[in-house]
Amino acid sequence: MNPNYASIVPTADETSIEHAQVIIVGAGPVGLLAALKLAQGGIDVLLVEADKQVLQSPRATTYMPIVLNELEKVGLFPDIEKAGHKNKEGIIFRKSHAKGGETLAQLKMAQVPKGSVKYDFAGIHLGQQTLAEIILSHCEKQKTFRIRWGHRFAGVKQSGEADPVSVTCVGPVGEKFFSCDYLIAADGAGSAVRRSLCIPFEGFTWQDFRFVASNVKYDFEGYGGFTTANMIVDEEDWAVIARTGPGDAPWRVAFGVRTDIPEADILKQLPAKYERLLPGPRPLKYELVSANPYWAHQRVAATFKVGKVLLCGDAGHSNNPIGGLGLTTGLLDAAALANCFLRIYNHNEYADALLERYAKVRRDAWINYTDPQSIDFKLRVHSFHPEVQAARDGFFNALNTDPSMHLKMATMMNEVIEDEFALPELNGLPGTEANDIIQGSKSGKD
Ligand SMILES: Cc1cc2nc3c(=O)[nH]c(=O)nc-3n(C[C@H](O)[C@H](O)[C@H](O)COP(=O)(O)OP(=O)(O)OC[C@H]3O[C@@H](n4cnc5c(N)ncnc54)[C@H](O)[C@@H]3O)c2cc1C
Repeated sequence: MNPNYASIVPTADETSIEHAQVIIVGAGPVGLLAALKLAQGGIDVLLVEADKQVLQSPRATTYMPIVLNELEKVGLFPDIEKAGHKNKEGIIFRKSHAKGGETLAQLKMAQVPKGSVKYDFAGIHLGQQTLAEIILSHCEKQKTFRIRWGHRFAGVKQSGEADPVSVTCVGPVGEKFFSCDYLIAADGAGSAVRRSLCIPFEGFTWQDFRFVASNVKYDFEGYGGFTTANMIVDEEDWAVIARTGPGDAPWRVAFGVRTDIPEADILKQLPAKYERLLPGPRPLKYELVSANPYWAHQRVAATFKVGKVLLCGDAGHSNNPIGGLGLTTGLLDAAALANCFLRIYNHNEYADALLERYAKVRRDAWINYTDPQSIDFKLRVHSFHPEVQAARDGFFNALNTDPSMHLKMATMMNEVIEDEFALPELNGLPGTEANDIIQGSKSGKD
């Protein structure tokens, strides 16, 4: 360069590296919950998020008692209770409107004796984006919490065990470099972190349907006795119709479409589907708020841990959404992983063994509980295989004739997790067999 230009040409940037004890990729509800727990424990945590705000796409709507218990531990429950809609009725299984709309069976929370379960409702209904915004607002009150919006993870490098983990993101003005003791991948099912580490995402993608998640304003309660959660059982017109929140919040109508329908034509199916699904007078009058098509998977990462990088939530597993178990499982991962870090930083526990155990226990929890349960939910609304049909008829018959079924199901939804990763002084909760299964079987320990 001509030396005369030195005063007018900018000097080279200094490569600054921002450090945090724990960096989390992805400000979805899972990354945010992990960040909140870490920051509440005084750990220096930095979230990097590709988007400029919390994602607004219509996804989870339902949070079961098992996860409400975890949200309560970090002080989120009052805000979630205020913003959401409690499902005090239960779940109705019914035929499609086109086939008469008859109720096949009903889980009735009113049949559950008062005081017999902690949460006497079948979950809280609230849009996932609102849940994430509530968690974010709690994070922002913590001194050791930072977030970098508009920073897309691009690469990770791990050297020696004692060396920090290097992370590269692409930010609004090019590459930005970070370092941390540990990296949590909470960047969703298409996790760039998981892919960068060449971790296989094992399992399958459902080939007999794609589903469309639509949000619509419509008077389901007024026209045909719909309550908060309704499962439409049908070979072709199966669906989940549920509230996404209180008052005039839109309803979620999630339905399946055949996979041979070209991508561009999927949303064109919606009016005819609504015609066969929605109760009430014709012509139908509804206000469509949003509609997005999705593939559904049953996939799990081959490992949740590579060195000092840990997978959490959908980055580690993905399942079909019928039954609402994906985020439920992810939030439990986040709680467990954050508890591990609280023990490592605040109680000097040996990190590697504890994190190995996290990786095994949470992966096993998905394989042994979430995967089979979510497949059962899907088959219950959408399969006419004789064996599945017989099992479903047996389940419906039990719900219709055995009054103890309502308490049994409410108890199952209310099981308290025996949180084996919790800090010892917080872990006073009694365990149960079902909790062990969800949290990961004790016999599954290293
Ligand atoms: C239609 C539908 C309905 C569902 N209903 C339910 C339900 O009722 N109950 C339930 O429990 N589950 C439900 N699920 C599943 C639930 O939505 C997911 O389990 C949940 O979104 C997982 O949360 P997460 O935080 O792990 O990932 P995500 O919510 O996917 O968040 C990942 C975040 O990472 C960010 N990100 C991605 N790549 C990068 C990158 N390279 N760098 C930086 N940031 C990045 C994204 O922008 C995003 O903010 C449903 C899913 C669908 C599709």
